[in-house]
Amino acid sequence: MLLFASKLGYQTRSFDEAAQKLGVDLVFVTDRCHQLEDPWGDHAIPVQFETPDSAAYEVLEAVRAGEGADGVLALGDRPAVVAAYVARGLGLPYNHPMAVEACRSKLRMREIFRDAGLRVPWFRSVALQPAPEPALLGISYPCVLKPLSLSASQGVMRVNDREEFLAAAERIRRLLESPEILPKREANLDRIIAEGYISGTEVAVEGLLSDGTLRVLAIFDKPDPLEGPFFEETIYVTPSRLSEKQQRDVEKCAAEALRALGLSHGPIHAEFRVNDAGVWPLEVAPRPIGGLCARSLSFRGEQSDPSIGLEELLLRHAAELPGGDWPREPVASGVMMIPVPKSGVLERVDGEDGARATPGITGLQITARLHDYIAAWPEGSSYLGFLFARAGGAAEVEAALRAAHAKLKFTLTERLPVEHPATRRIVA
Ligand code: ADP
Repeated sequence: MLLFASKLGYQTRSFDEAAQKLGVDLVFVTDRCHQLEDPWGDHAIPVQFETPDSAAYEVLEAVRAGEGADGVLALGDRPAVVAAYVARGLGLPYNHPMAVEACRSKLRMREIFRDAGLRVPWFRSVALQPAPEPALLGISYPCVLKPLSLSASQGVMRVNDREEFLAAAERIRRLLESPEILPKREANLDRIIAEGYISGTEVAVEGLLSDGTLRVLAIFDKPDPLEGPFFEETIYVTPSRLSEKQQRDVEKCAAEALRALGLSHGPIHAEFRVNDAGVWPLEVAPRPIGGLCARSLSFRGEQSDPSIGLEELLLRHAAELPGGDWPREPVASGVMMIPVPKSGVLERVDGEDGARATPGITGLQITARLHDYIAAWPEGSSYLGFLFARAGGAAEVEAALRAAHAKLKFTLTERLPVEHPATRRIVA
């Protein structure tokens, strides 16, 4: 089984554990080979994800020279593109490369949704230089500005008038030219998409495609209002508290969005807004939910079967082993991606024990490293950590996450400016 991943950490470790349990030989395809420890080291294929065709060629060479492969899985948007080319080369079931490529551009995705007759706001692509003049572009407010190819809401901003538009466009231009983003060599860093703001509540769908048929694994509510100006995520809770009818509409919209994009096989994660007009597809990604959030999902066959995590379910599905079709355990469960209140150096975290002891809380993992700089949204894209809860109902899960979060205190100090005397002394 080939596992394409550009981040190595909890998620890849969970796949590794599941693979060992199932006796599946997992081979990592990654641009982070230098971070691998044995026994993964002998087992990895190094690639550069930013050049998908040459990366795919190298993987195909390596696989053909070795023992072959029976399936592919990808974590992350860029690895999914290379995985699609490799799967095609090996004749393995996975998404068509064109479908996965379409998911890499928010502009292309809007065009596809519009052409398929799905609900889309007005949208247009805007060059960042020379500085755009919204009055000449037919922009109406409120609207949302976003980079074409980043993820995790990085650089996504709501603007309510011309001044905010100009400031946000300039802020995104600086972000896209920053040393954090430029080296990733993403496409279209000189443009943004501007689109109408869609009001309403937001949900995420975790799903699994088999030969074009979608199985919804979970619909997550996002109970915190996501009204801008920035859109970092916080709480995800399942089962959804939308009405049965609204949930069916979300599932229908998800299936239509996937069909429009041409995605057909493997895990998907998608976001939707729901309002009086109906369901609006925001975005679809051909990969599972990221970070540690997968831990909020568990699956079980018969009562006697042990429950398994999302990674094991996906591995069973990709390897065509029994259990890939097990349903989600019928419990209310949720995760909070702990937001970054302000950019700075994380100096200390207090209240962890209290947060862990909160009724309903099943886990807390601080993933930000002490003494490292962490950026708040819209420049940022990683969370301070993750809180997990389970309870009798979705409302209790949400309450537990909020109560535990209230006990946590993060001390963030501003990053030292370069001309700070202390820094100058060290440099000298
Ligand atoms: P990313 O891939 O970076 O997560 P998205 O396009 O999914 O980018 O946008 C991130 C978040 O921003 C969404 O989950 C949503 O909360 C908000 N958002 C994006 N576009 C709109 C829109 N047109 N109207 C309202 N909210 C939006």
